[in-house]
Amino acid sequence: MAINTYDIIISGGGAAGFFSAINIAEKHPGTNILILEKSTKCLDKVRISGGGRCNVTHACWEPKELIKFYPRGSKELLGPFHKFMCGDMLAWLDAQGIETNIEEDGRIFPSSNSSQTIIDCFMGQAQKHKITICLSEGMKDFERRDGQFKIQTSQNRTLISDQLIIATGGTKSIWKLLEAKGLKIIPPVPSLFTFNIKHPLLEGLPGVSIPSGRVRIEGFKMETTGPILITHWGLSGPGILKLSSWAARFLNERQYDYSVFINWVDLPKGRVSEILSTRKKEKGNQNILLDRTFSIPKRLWKKMILHLGLEHKNWADITKKEMDRLETLLCHCRFEAKGKSTNKDEFVTSGGIELKEINFKNMQSKTIDQLYFAGEVLNIDALTGGFNFQAAWTTAWIISEEIFNY
Ligand SMILES: Cc1cc2nc3c(=O)[nH]c(=O)nc-3n(C[C@H](O)[C@H](O)[C@H](O)COP(=O)(O)OP(=O)(O)OC[C@H]3O[C@@H](n4cnc5c(N)ncnc54)[C@H](O)[C@@H]3O)c2cc1C
Repeated sequence: MAINTYDIIISGGGAAGFFSAINIAEKHPGTNILILEKSTKCLDKVRISGGGRCNVTHACWEPKELIKFYPRGSKELLGPFHKFMCGDMLAWLDAQGIETNIEEDGRIFPSSNSSQTIIDCFMGQAQKHKITICLSEGMKDFERRDGQFKIQTSQNRTLISDQLIIATGGTKSIWKLLEAKGLKIIPPVPSLFTFNIKHPLLEGLPGVSIPSGRVRIEGFKMETTGPILITHWGLSGPGILKLSSWAARFLNERQYDYSVFINWVDLPKGRVSEILSTRKKEKGNQNILLDRTFSIPKRLWKKMILHLGLEHKNWADITKKEMDRLETLLCHCRFEAKGKSTNKDEFVTSGGIELKEINFKNMQSKTIDQLYFAGEVLNIDALTGGFNFQAAWTTAWIISEEIFNY
């Protein structure tokens, strides 16, 4: 059986694995690095990310602001973000000749609008630095003995390295392996999903987008605001996905059976009440169906009025009880959600290595020397918008800075 020896072995040829390999090689020329990738292709999630466009990071320039997008990992990432964050990633891409575009909502994509640009860059850099890549060969086990790692692969090879970086993303078998080695793992649950809701109010409205709504889940402490999209399955859009991320564990505990409250107009109840009363006074002879009062899509307004059976009434004829029902529908609209659907543009797993296990100054395990972690293998996850990749870039970059400082 052949034995091969490397300075550094990286398990996982995804975003975090490649970014750590390239940056280590750049800073420490001549380092003998191997990437082990269990599947037939590297960087597969980068390829499909952002609908094939790769939302590579976000236009956020303050670490204190950036951490607000991380339901898990915000406290721990503050220090690392002070060393490498979104602007640094843009500068890194720029140095590789990759132009980027900032969209109105802050998401950043390569100007080519193709994730292949990022893949080509990473593959080119890996080649330039003579990083060895083994495809279809996963890490099955490892042990640390006499200051070195002995790694067993799925091809029944034994590899030796001084340092081991684990960047295997949300892979359950690796979490199991690490648990067996004494590391604490937070059980994985999905994050960033859409809410499955069947309700007559939503029927016939898929594709309708509400510019700014407020979303709340019964029993959960926080609410979110943002655009809401009505889909064939229920509700999606940034306002919903954000809350699915914050409430990922809460909803998993409830087996995705929960009540959602939507404020379609993102206005307090008192203000909605005032606007409706003024309308009744000033536009009394107008048919309510034709007089859309709030900046919500016409089709949704119409559906609400039909749902309440008020379509033949003028404002002046609306009773106090009917006014209350309209007000409730506008700003306290209750739905029963059952189950979840995956958000196809970006989805992540919440869970992974307990962050207390890691020294965030160098991303090293506190219990196993020379063992490092980067990316989604950690219990870090973020809202949509390029933040998940940024966590991968930052943790990988920290390793590249610190791996030889021991
Ligand atoms: C559809 C989709 C779209 C997304 N779009 C975006 C986006 O636009 N912006 C954003 O910020 N985030 C996005 N994300 C999230 C982002 O892709 C992840 O946060 C990021 O890929 C995590 O990087 P990683 O290197 O930690 O893990 P991964 O990219 O998952 O890489 C892990 C690698 O390790 C390999 N591996 C697993 N086990 C082993 C083993 N035992 N031995 C060797 N190799 C192994 C895997 O095959 C994989 O190649 C998206 C996710 C999905 C699913």
